[in-house]
Amino acid sequence: MGISRRQFLQGGALAAAGVALAKPGEANVDAPGLRTKGLKSSTTICPFCAVGCGLIVHTKDGKVANIEGDPKHPINKGSLCSKGSSLFQVAVNDRRLQKVMYRAPGSDKWEEKSWDWTLDRIAQRMKETRDKSFKASELNKKDNKEYVVNRADGMAMFGGAGLDNEECYLWSKFSRSMGVGLLEHQARL
Ligand code: SF4
Repeated sequence: MGISRRQFLQGGALAAAGVALAKPGEANVDAPGLRTKGLKSSTTICPFCAVGCGLIVHTKDGKVANIEGDPKHPINKGSLCSKGSSLFQVAVNDRRLQKVMYRAPGSDKWEEKSWDWTLDRIAQRMKETRDKSFKASELNKKDNKEYVVNRADGMAMFGGAGLDNEECYLWSKFSRSMGVGLLEHQARL
């Protein structure tokens, strides 16, 4: 069915009049001003990657009720990628683990552990692995000479996209000091 230019303009004028006459309570329920009305708001940074997009978090009675891009933030000006847009589901999710769960080698059961126990365990396992795989020197087959390498080949370290420049610097320094040569970044995998 065709539509004349006059009919098109008349339809547009009617729609505009309808919008102008709508009462506040009849406006789109998705309008941010209504969804977050009366909620406490605070700003933060998205934890997922080093772009560092700004967020506004709305809370009600101490619980997260909404998360959205901060339009005043100089980096993202309110926009978020798909990961940042789904942050609400990370904050409010019954399936999110909030305690350390440990499964011993060979076991079929998960046990709840404290952070103190967990950090000690990680440090102990790192020390054991480093001691087992550390090489002070290595023979170079090309010239048949022994060279100092101070390398722990049994370990690898992975950085994450959430690390900024300074954290990456510290992470690489820490890894090198442990003798780790296999240092990679999550985004290259
Ligand atoms: S994950 Fe997306 S929203 Fe979060 S900081 Fe990176 S680009 Fe921004």
